[in-house]
Amino acid sequence: MQSNTMRCALIIAPNWIGDALMAQPLFAVIKQLHPKIVLDAVASTWVAPVLARMPEIRKIYLTSLAHGKLQLWKRWQLACDLRKAAYSMAYVLPNSLKSGLILKFSGIPLRIGYTGESRYILLNVRHPNPLKSKRTSMVLYYAALAYAPGAKIPRDLPLPRLTTDWSESIRVSHRFNLNTDISLIVFCPGAEYGPAKRWPTQHFAALARMINHSFPYIQVIALGSLRDRTVAQAIAEDVPSIRNLCGKTSLDEACALITRASVVVTNDSGLMHVAAALQRPIVALYGSTDPRYTPPLSKLAKVQWLHLKCSPCFARECPLHHFNCLRELSVEQVFNDLYSILIANR
Ligand code: SF4
Repeated sequence: MQSNTMRCALIIAPNWIGDALMAQPLFAVIKQLHPKIVLDAVASTWVAPVLARMPEIRKIYLTSLAHGKLQLWKRWQLACDLRKAAYSMAYVLPNSLKSGLILKFSGIPLRIGYTGESRYILLNVRHPNPLKSKRTSMVLYYAALAYAPGAKIPRDLPLPRLTTDWSESIRVSHRFNLNTDISLIVFCPGAEYGPAKRWPTQHFAALARMINHSFPYIQVIALGSLRDRTVAQAIAEDVPSIRNLCGKTSLDEACALITRASVVVTNDSGLMHVAAALQRPIVALYGSTDPRYTPPLSKLAKVQWLHLKCSPCFARECPLHHFNCLRELSVEQVFNDLYSILIANR
């Protein structure tokens, strides 16, 4: 379906950074199918910085809605703002009843989404929600919303891409007293989801020692949120040359620093998807999750996943209490990937 009339559509963005990035191909496909469409988004303050770097998105309505809370009054106020903008259609990406409510209040005539949490009345273009075990990838799952329910989805979807600004990257590096004349390796040792997605801190520390030994002129920093600070601190206490910037940067500043990274060594986390969309080389470490379902969307990514018999279990904590999917992922394997990236890019 091709349309040439100017229309404004609204996206209710996912609540996780990684999911927001895996939704970007959907935004690109909507723009391809409807070249004159304008896309605005409703997003949490946490996810908004990555949407602001997506060229497909014009404007963002920031929400401070607490996760899991109904907060009807706040939703009503937001819906009143949206009603004034008179959007012709909306795509609702979170599958909660609450996110559908905003659209219903806002009077947007065409409301597209998956039938999660009994949203039959709130959505009027309803895609049947496949079981998680039947979904092939998150990117295809979101991209399907651009097409009629049940339609065949092209496999060659555009990859997520965030805009970068080199001068901003240099400015932010100076703000954190990082030497911009030497190369940077970024560790992302956290994962909000839980320990079954986190490579052990001792392994990160051993990797840092190997880097220091082979590439003594390269600076290593750890990035993440305040919740990742303790994990990164354990690594920095073991290897004091590592700068622990977890919780010290905004997401925007973290993006600016990743832009300069020669390699990003990362768990399966939101920052992994950020690094992929910033087109930085990545060594991505998977434990309880599945890189076929939520891969780093970049040709510059190397994935380490042991694919044990028990994996993927998608658990936050190891139900078998041994975390072998991550503990047995050896430092040497990861260093070999990192080494080959650094050598190839010299
Ligand atoms: S059960 Fe297996 S895949 Fe799941 S966390 Fe434990 S070791 Fe990892």
